[in-house]
Amino acid sequence: RAKDGGRGQMCFYEPLMDEKIERSRDIAAEMHGALERGEFHLLFQPIFDLAGQRILSCEALLRWTNRRHGAIAPAEFIPIAEDNGLIVGIGNWVIREACRTASRWPVEVKIAVNLSPVQLKSINLPIIILSALAASGLAADRLELEVTESVLLDDIDASLAALDAINRLEVRTTLDDFGTGYSSLSYLTKFPFQTLKIDRSFIANLEQCPASVAIVQTVIELAAKLGMRTVAEGIETQAQLDQLRRTRCDAVQGYLLAHPMPPSMVTSMLSGRNTLDGFSPDAAQFSS
Ligand code: C2E
Ligand code: MG
Ligand code: MG
Ligand code: MG
Repeated sequence: RAKDGGRGQMCFYEPLMDEKIERSRDIAAEMHGALERGEFHLLFQPIFDLAGQRILSCEALLRWTNRRHGAIAPAEFIPIAEDNGLIVGIGNWVIREACRTASRWPVEVKIAVNLSPVQLKSINLPIIILSALAASGLAADRLELEVTESVLLDDIDASLAALDAINRLEVRTTLDDFGTGYSSLSYLTKFPFQTLKIDRSFIANLEQCPASVAIVQTVIELAAKLGMRTVAEGIETQAQLDQLRRTRCDAVQGYLLAHPMPPSMVTSMLSGRNTLDGFSPDAAQFSS
């Protein structure tokens, strides 16, 4: 096969692969001790109520600034952390840090935390959650855990048991990135999610693609019939927001409304003018 590709192509291809592998190895190595060195921090992206234009919740988004590589995106380091198992320790830190931060907010909005499949499978998860709640004093019903649908399918019974255990603590669960995985609509009736987050790819297509409007509308209606709230993620334009106001989802999130921002900014936003119009210009300075 390599011969078919020709010599030039091979020479071009191999160094790139090597570089990629080397960077992954490097990043994996740097990840050991990164928590202890204080290299992680959280940003928070508000989720707004569609009608009231108030902040309902903030999603914690993990950031890593490494001493050698600088800022590394979650899309790059989280899969590596899942492979080498470090995601459990890092994820526990995220839960504790997010609860601690939210417990100090001047308004009792919710805090949403992304959960890796590896964490969901961990038998210690309920203990980790309980101890983060106890340490921070945050009420259980202010914590929402987001999981992506790809998680659920490889072991449906285990996923169901884990979600039930979370729900029994009165912590809420959100199905993140809905529509990107392989799950069928019938899974929605099986899993006990309180909220469904419609993936950004559908929102991005709302303006050009009538089919996306139909899909989003159908998902919102179905979720409502099943007793679930809907959040639309990745809203970047006014036209998308206007469309979602017509289709009436429950909550909206995206760069148009607010970027992920440092905790101090969330605090001032929550203590001041907690409205959509007042904040997009300021918030827009803080790109992720
Ligand atoms: P996600 O949970 O679906 O989070 C949404 C991502 O979209 C975030 O990227 C956010 O910054 C970005 N985003 C928000 N609004 C917009 C928008 O209007 N347009 C566009 N183009 N993007 C928008 P981020 O922070 O890079 O995180 C990427 C993914 O990494 C997350 O997707 C989540 O799956 C994962 N992640 C982030 N933090 C954590 C964490 O603490 N633990 C775990 N397990 N995963 C995390
Ligand atoms: Mg999320
Ligand atoms: Mg998402
Ligand atoms: Mg996503």
